[in-house]
Amino acid sequence: MKITAADVIVTSPSRNFVTLKITTDEGLTGLGDATLNGRELAVASYLTEHVTQLLIGRDPHRIEDTWQFLYRSAYWRRGPVTMAAIAAVDMALWDIKGKAAGMPVYQLLGGASRTALRTYGHASGRDIPELFDSIRQHLEEGYKSIRVQSSVPGIKALYGVAAQAQATGERYDFEPAGRGAQPTEEDWDTRAYLRHVPTVFEAVRNEFGPELPLLHDGHHRMTPIQAAKLGKSLEPYDLFWLEDVTPAENQEAFRLIRQHTTTPLAVGEVFNTVFDFQTLIREQLIDYVRAASTHFGGISPLKKVMDYAAQYQIRSGFHGPTDVSPVGLAAQSHVGLAIHNFGIQEYMEHSKKTNTVFEQSMTFVDGYLHPGDSPGLGVELNEEAAASFPYQQAYLPYNRLTDGTVHDW
Ligand SMILES: [Mg+2]
Repeated sequence: MKITAADVIVTSPSRNFVTLKITTDEGLTGLGDATLNGRELAVASYLTEHVTQLLIGRDPHRIEDTWQFLYRSAYWRRGPVTMAAIAAVDMALWDIKGKAAGMPVYQLLGGASRTALRTYGHASGRDIPELFDSIRQHLEEGYKSIRVQSSVPGIKALYGVAAQAQATGERYDFEPAGRGAQPTEEDWDTRAYLRHVPTVFEAVRNEFGPELPLLHDGHHRMTPIQAAKLGKSLEPYDLFWLEDVTPAENQEAFRLIRQHTTTPLAVGEVFNTVFDFQTLIREQLIDYVRAASTHFGGISPLKKVMDYAAQYQIRSGFHGPTDVSPVGLAAQSHVGLAIHNFGIQEYMEHSKKTNTVFEQSMTFVDGYLHPGDSPGLGVELNEEAAASFPYQQAYLPYNRLTDGTVHDW
């Protein structure tokens, strides 16, 4: 079998997605997700200008060789643009291999280690009553674990809070990356946040009891000692995990945090390779790997980092917001189903419009996700529908401190 075409499709049903479609001389096609939220066209260009022509004539079965060729031959390694481009190729080749074998990809990775993937959903509110309503709504929809985010008194921006989108009834169309020529500016005050968050979790525990697994995302906004303080102050509320506490480039920061708190820690959604996890895993400084197949080079390296993490009883918690396309979500769901050290899968339903573009075998039943048993990844692109939603520029918001200093995302 030989690759005869590699096409990049950019579409924007509810938000922007970049998809690679690889076609073979036997008529099999494979899809890969190359979406880099807010910088989508950089990856589309990397693929069309520098990668697609290299794929023509190659044997699509040689996934590992193609991955190593793209990673090593470029000389310039790593980085989100490069790794999202390689991820798309890797996923598309696994998709083709699965179709050629007549098997879903998880079967090729060793078969299912569980019946389905436990998930968590995103509850949020501008105040406690609105937050409680959001949690109840998620429980009614079947979610068994809940991420809790709340507005902070004194901070104007609804950071991580989807209240306005909820009011429209299209909760998961909520897109933090706003369409337009400029990013929106938000404000931030870490001390106000640190005072407020424990009161939110105290209220949630009092209302919903001790059993419900609760998660929280700090969006990389704290210093190491602030993160340590937050982890310690949340210990009475028994979090499933505390996520992204510090800007994650500095892995050594987690040594300090770990010394002060037993709250489980998750990080890595902006990581691109196993090297970003090297110290964190080897020194057992985290409990969950947040990498996403799309931004981590695809299925092949995601499986490898989880095999490394397994030696230290560290589990998966793959990044799964709606900017990971249905192709990327399917890719990491196959990995999650196959590996022994699966933890939990973040899950935000894609919008109805997105699901008309990406036809999927994925199911979400009673809080559990399953990628389905279609051969390959189980996602097909409706190219006619995709063409009806042209790209629109969009940026993630950013924030400034009260004195005007740009702060971390
Ligand atoms: Mg996060």
